[in-house]
Amino acid sequence: GHTQPMIIAQGLAKQYGTTLAVKGVDLHVNPGEIVGFLGPNGAGKTTTIKMLIGLLRPTAGLASIGGFDIQRQPLQAKALLGYVPDQPYLPEKLSAREYIDFMAGLYQLDRRSARQRGEEFLHLFGLTERGDELLGGYSHGMRQKAALTGALLHQPRAFFLDEPTVGLDPRSARLIKDILRQQAERGTAILMSTHILEIAERMCDRVIIINKGTIIAAGSLEELRAGGDSSLEDIFLN
Ligand code: ATP
Repeated sequence: GHTQPMIIAQGLAKQYGTTLAVKGVDLHVNPGEIVGFLGPNGAGKTTTIKMLIGLLRPTAGLASIGGFDIQRQPLQAKALLGYVPDQPYLPEKLSAREYIDFMAGLYQLDRRSARQRGEEFLHLFGLTERGDELLGGYSHGMRQKAALTGALLHQPRAFFLDEPTVGLDPRSARLIKDILRQQAERGTAILMSTHILEIAERMCDRVIIINKGTIIAAGSLEELRAGGDSSLEDIFLN
């Protein structure tokens, strides 16, 4: 079979003042794939993701989600995507269940089915008992799970995450990994940024490596290693 990529970047570039932060990035993510967007701090991962999801206007290039151009058809494209930044904003004065209702309203979802879906995520994340507590009192790991629940509520076909498991206990990291895999198995395309090689290794089907605003390698880590690709060591060990 031949599927069209869910997430596509073509020649994406971003200039901040005189700094060219992203220098013409091409990438794609197919339905069902978890792709790691790997690179050191400042490489251009967040800038690229923000252009892909329509939070930043590219200086040059194109981004599309499910075949919709994010700049020209933003409503159609945005309806298909979900995003969890590394420091997700959560309304501190809402409980997790109120937050689920709030997100259901934002996405104009059927409230009953959104609640049901929200409860499923709370259950998977082990938060059923704590769903009526205020988000302001949640730990970092619980906040991350609540943010994921909110961002997955509308069943995005393209899902973007910034450093999703950094600073989490192993059990929470594992849960998040399992839930992302489950979403991928249902056909969602997932692009997650990380600067940690082991996280990409544990969670991703393949990786795209960016350094100084340029893609320098792409493939499975096995392939990259077998190919004698020195770029991994150059970037992560030096
Ligand atoms: P990190 O993991 O540290 O977030 P990153 O790979 O996501 O790194 P970006 O945040 O995209 O990298 O940053 C890429 C480059 O662009 C860096 O040199 C950064 O200093 C610069 N940059 C990012 N945002 C801005 C901005 N709003 N104004 C000016 N320069 C910026």
